[in-house]
Amino acid sequence: MLDVTPNRPNLPAEIACRRTFAIISHPDAGKTTLTEKFLLYGGAIQMAGQVRAKGEARRTRSDFMKMEQDRGISVSASAMSFDYGEFRYNLVDTPGHSDFSEDTYRTLTAVDAAVMVIDGAKGVESQTQKLFEVCRLRDLPILTFCNKMDRESRETFEIIDEIQENLAIDVSPASWPIGVGREFIGCYDLLNDRLELMDRADRNVVSESIKINGLDDPLLTEHVPAHLLEQLLEEVEMVRELLPPLDPQAVLEGHMTPIWFGSAINSFGVKELMDGIGAYGPEPQPQSAEPRQISPDEKKVAGFVFKVQANMDPKHRDRVAFVRMASGHFKRGMKLTHVRTKKPMAISNPVLFLASDRELAEEAWAGDIIGIPNHGQLRIGDTLTEGEALRVTGIPSFAPELLQGVRAGDPLKSKHLEKALMQFAEEGAAKVFKPMIGSGFIVGVVGQLQFEVLASRIEMEYGLPVRFEQSQFTSARWVNGSTQAIDKFAESNKQHISYDHDGDVVFLTRLQWDIDRVGRDYPDIKLTATKEMM
Ligand code: GDP
Repeated sequence: MLDVTPNRPNLPAEIACRRTFAIISHPDAGKTTLTEKFLLYGGAIQMAGQVRAKGEARRTRSDFMKMEQDRGISVSASAMSFDYGEFRYNLVDTPGHSDFSEDTYRTLTAVDAAVMVIDGAKGVESQTQKLFEVCRLRDLPILTFCNKMDRESRETFEIIDEIQENLAIDVSPASWPIGVGREFIGCYDLLNDRLELMDRADRNVVSESIKINGLDDPLLTEHVPAHLLEQLLEEVEMVRELLPPLDPQAVLEGHMTPIWFGSAINSFGVKELMDGIGAYGPEPQPQSAEPRQISPDEKKVAGFVFKVQANMDPKHRDRVAFVRMASGHFKRGMKLTHVRTKKPMAISNPVLFLASDRELAEEAWAGDIIGIPNHGQLRIGDTLTEGEALRVTGIPSFAPELLQGVRAGDPLKSKHLEKALMQFAEEGAAKVFKPMIGSGFIVGVVGQLQFEVLASRIEMEYGLPVRFEQSQFTSARWVNGSTQAIDKFAESNKQHISYDHDGDVVFLTRLQWDIDRVGRDYPDIKLTATKEMM
C-alpha cells in the first residue's frame, strides 16, 4: 500500500481501518452492480445478484412500493459493512431517485467519502452533477469509477475533460484503459505499474494482475497487442504531461478526484477501486457539533441519527434509527444519553448490517453505522453521547417544494391520520404542517413520487385510505426570531401560519411577493428555507 497519510490524526487501528462511504451516480450507471461486486470481494455474499432488490433509481412506482413492502431488504441495503484487505468498509446507500434528494443529502452527512460512478459512454449526467454539488458543499473526498468500459465508450481524455469542466475538480487517472469497446482488454495501473487484464469469459473472476517494471518492460508486449500498446504508451505520455499527478491531500480536501476505469459487470477494476478507497478515502473524520467538534479518537462514545426507517414490520410499530458513530468504542448494552431529551437509553439490541443479513452489533467503532430499534424516541439529527451535552450540527431539513392537503377517506379517522403523518414526518419522509386555522394537514415533499409512496404507506401500514388534494399554498418557510416576535407575527398572519411536527412556526404562501413583504414589514423576523434538525 502506498503511504498516503498526510495530516492524519493518530487513530487507534480499529478506527483507522474504517472507510465509510456512499456511491453517487445517475440511474443506470452501475451503482447496484458495483455494490454487488464490492460485497462479492468483501466475501459478504457468495454470489452476486442479491442486491438487486435495491437500485430503486429507475424503478416505476409499483416496483418501488413492492420494495417498500419488503422493507427488510431495503433496510439491510441502507448500510452494508464488509471487510476487504486491511479495511472495514461501510457503504451507505443513497436513494437513487431525485425525488428523495433530501434523504440523500442527509445520508451524505454520515459518510467520509463518495464514490462517483459514471457511464463511460455517457459521461457526467444530470443526477451525478446534482449529487456531486451536494458532496462539494461538504468538501467530501470523491473517487471516480468510470464504468462500462467493456462497451463502446467515449475517448478517455474527453471523459476526463468533461469531469474537469462540468464539476470543476482536478482529475488524476489512477488507471488507464487499454483499447475501447470490443477491443478493451484491461487497464494499466498507473499507481502501481501493473497490468490488469479483464477476463471476458467469466464475469465473476478476479482480473489477472501482472506486475510490470515500467512502461518499457518487455512483458507488456507479451500481453498487449502492438497497436494497443503503441496507443497506450502515447496516451500515458500525454497523461504525465497534461494531467496532474495524484495528490492525496488534494483528494482529501475535495479538489481532486482519482479516476479508475473498469467494468463492474465483469468484476473488472473493482478491486483497484476498493484499494483506492482504502488508500485515498479518508478514515473517520471529525464531526461538527455544538459546542465543540467530536474527534473520532475520543475515548467516549458519541453518534448521531441520520436516517430513521419506520414500520419495517407493520405488526409492530418498530423503527430503526441509523446511527453514525462519531467517536469511541461502542459495546452492546451500553447506556447512552439521548441529548435532546436528556434521558438515558440502554442500547441493548443494536444491529449491524452485514450485507443481506442483519446481525446484532456486539461492538462498533467510530465510522460504523449501527441500527437502533426504538419506539420513536430517536429522530433524525439526534445525538447520543456518554453524558456530554453535544449536539451534532449540519443535518438540515429543507423547505418542501410541493405542498398538498391531505384528508382521511373516513373523517372519523383524522386522529389516526395525524399519528401516521407525525410518524412519517419524524422519519423524514415528508414535512407535515398543521394550519393554525381550520382542520386537516398540509404535507410537503421534494418530489411527486413521495406523495404516492406516502399515500400507499399510510394505507398499507395504517389501513387508512387517504386523499391528497391541491393546496392553496406552494411555499413553506420556517419563521425565526424571538418567541415574542414570532407570536406577534403569527397573530397577525393567521391565514398563513402552521406548525411543523416539532411545533415550530411555519409561514405558508403561494407568492414570493408575500415572502418579500415579510422581510420588509417584520425586521425582527427571518424566514428560512432550511432548518437544522435536532
Ligand atoms: P444503477 O441504476 O446505477 O444501480 O445501475 P445497475 O447496476 O442496475 O446497472 C444498469 C445496467 O447496466 C444493468 O443492465 C447492468 O447489467 C448494466 N451494467 C452495469 N455495469 C456494467 C458494465 O460494466 N458493462 C456493461 N456492459 N453493462 C453494465
